[in-house]
Amino acid sequence: MKILRWRINVCQWASNLRLSLNTTCDLIKLMYFSLCYNAFTSPSLILETGLEPVFWIVDHFAKYMGPILMFIVFALCSIGLVIFYVIMIPRYLSYGWHWFLPNFMFGNWLLVNTVFNYVMGCRTNPGHPPQIVPEVVSICKRCISPKPPRAHHCSVCKKCVLRMDHHCPWLNNCVGFYNHRYFFLYMVYMMSGCLYACVLFYPLFYDNFYVGKEVVFHGVLYPLNMAYQFWMSKNKSYTYIAISNGTSVKRTPPTQSFNQLTLSDQIYHHSVIFVFFLGFGCVIALFILSLWHARLVSRGETSIEVHINKNERKRLKKLGQTYVNPYDFGFVQNWKLFFGLTEGRTFWRHILFPSRHKPPGNGLQWKTTTFTVDNFENIHVL
Ligand SMILES: [Zn+2]
Ligand SMILES: [Zn+2]
Repeated sequence: MKILRWRINVCQWASNLRLSLNTTCDLIKLMYFSLCYNAFTSPSLILETGLEPVFWIVDHFAKYMGPILMFIVFALCSIGLVIFYVIMIPRYLSYGWHWFLPNFMFGNWLLVNTVFNYVMGCRTNPGHPPQIVPEVVSICKRCISPKPPRAHHCSVCKKCVLRMDHHCPWLNNCVGFYNHRYFFLYMVYMMSGCLYACVLFYPLFYDNFYVGKEVVFHGVLYPLNMAYQFWMSKNKSYTYIAISNGTSVKRTPPTQSFNQLTLSDQIYHHSVIFVFFLGFGCVIALFILSLWHARLVSRGETSIEVHINKNERKRLKKLGQTYVNPYDFGFVQNWKLFFGLTEGRTFWRHILFPSRHKPPGNGLQWKTTTFTVDNFENIHVL
């Protein structure tokens, strides 16, 4: 009996098909690699490409979100401030002038500084490079113009910004060379003002929020009571006390239910809780932000440079070298340069009180730890 053995390469059409499939696969592979392969491709580039749709949304909508967020800041601050003044001024006046005056002066000092730095942060041009710059590090692909050191392109403003930190939607402005100080001081004064308001408001808040309610968490876990009470308030009817009646505080019996209070007392009750939570939320958010920016200033970096420097550090580490940030002049000097405390300016006058002084330099040329530029634009190696 004859045994037939089929082999695929004997069959001409099957062989052709295999060849054709192999060629097509090779072509697809080649096309894929030629499109995607790049010697500079890194995980961060892949991540950036993946996040491109998010950047697109930010680029196209941030300019519309800016005025809306500015209005929200203005509205919330105004409401909080009016409630605070309406409730606290009669209360502190009733304690006597020795209580009222220092608190009034301190609170308004914080308020004036907050408003001044916010307005200046919004209205001050962060600085844009001119067409001819003395020192060029690259060409901006979007503006097709020379870029000085530390300048970056803002895709929201559609301009290059000197010593750019970030585009702030709350200020509806870029934070850069000329207004970074205002932005930072605004955060610090706003946080201090909110913290001060929360401290003054706490006894009232406690009376309105906790009294008649069960305190479950003690010690450092005390704030968890807020979440617990909020959750429980949906299931139980609680009692509320401590309502204001002009200059004196009238306490209703703890057994009185909330619905039995008059409308003005209900408004008062909600206002106290609203202002405290608003202030407390601002303190936490601004504390984290201020701390982050303080760390950057201490290291002589911006929010953009921190990523660039991190990558450089990693790259040089692989080569067995150590990266040194050329704009890091040490903790004290970095803060002095950031606050513009040069030419005899002092912390007491120019930081604790409103001041419109400009930062040292022109934002186009930068002194570094390795070389410096003199008044005649000559470079000297240190
Ligand atoms: Zn540009
Ligand atoms: Zn911008």
